[in-house]
Amino acid sequence: MSKILITGATGNLGKSVIKHLLKKIDSKNLAILVRDVKKVESLKSEGVDVRIGDYKNYESLVQAFQGIEKLYFISGSDFEGRSQQHSNVVKAAKEAGVKHVIYTSFQRKNETETSPISFVVADHIETEKWLKESGMSYTILKHNLYLDMLPLFISDRLLETGTIYQPAGIGKAAFTLRDDMAEVAAHILASNGHENKEYDITSDKAYSYADIATIIAEVTKKEIRYISPSVEEFDAKLTEAGVPKPYIGLFAGFSQAMEQGELDNTNSVIEQLIGRKATSAEAYLKEVYA
Ligand code: NAP
Repeated sequence: MSKILITGATGNLGKSVIKHLLKKIDSKNLAILVRDVKKVESLKSEGVDVRIGDYKNYESLVQAFQGIEKLYFISGSDFEGRSQQHSNVVKAAKEAGVKHVIYTSFQRKNETETSPISFVVADHIETEKWLKESGMSYTILKHNLYLDMLPLFISDRLLETGTIYQPAGIGKAAFTLRDDMAEVAAHILASNGHENKEYDITSDKAYSYADIATIIAEVTKKEIRYISPSVEEFDAKLTEAGVPKPYIGLFAGFSQAMEQGELDNTNSVIEQLIGRKATSAEAYLKEVYA
């Protein structure tokens, strides 16, 4: 079997993909890219081929990608300089002779600078273009918002305040569990027929914050209300509460994207690929808040 390399192997998504993939392939056919070997000692002892590399260091990537046929490329986590990092990964994969790159991208409808999440999607749009022009086979996995991010967006103090406070209006997102995305990725990596395809990896149901408030109220038997302020009110209130500006911009951007329908995209791709439905927000929130 051809060798697969997983980047971002020390992160949440990467760890999940490895967990699912090792149920399907032998560890000798799996390589991982890490910056710090100390984080993956147990995988190393299971026979996984650990390679050192950094998206910021082109030569390290060319070296790390030697002998790899399929590369699962997890988008970088830095907002600053991510475009250059992604350019390094695509070029290094090409130079090292990688045949097929499976890339974790992000959903969007508006591809212009007017998008409230252009600070996230602009790098993805560029990276997809480079992959398509590279001559390597590609599979683009356009992820919706992680369901796992919901508790962060709606505040760890929700049960004290009883209020979800986000400027998303009645907009919806099809929040999708990261582990479902990982299981889909493992399926794609271990099977054929996904070359030069793009998949929207998203749940089959979209939710507004009002829907989320209703679900959490049912689970906790507490009153939970949803307030949708203007972006200006949101900014002022969070600034007063001492939340750093970059976080305020991030939360506001994703909420505005919800309000504008950017993430209100459902399908049954997860079920088609892994034979079961995506995890619902109801099931996930019950686990978190019950
Ligand atoms: P995560 O837990 O933060 O993991 C990020 C991974 O990328 C880590 O393994 C990290 O390695 C690695 N990495 C970061 N910079 C790197 C570099 N310069 N060179 C090599 N490796 C680097 O993120 P996640 O939850 O797994 O999510 C994966 C990606 O999805 C994120 O990076 C981000 O692009 C995107 N994302 C999507 C959503 C969504 O809602 N769809 C939400 C958040 C993030 P270290 O352990 O060495 O730091």
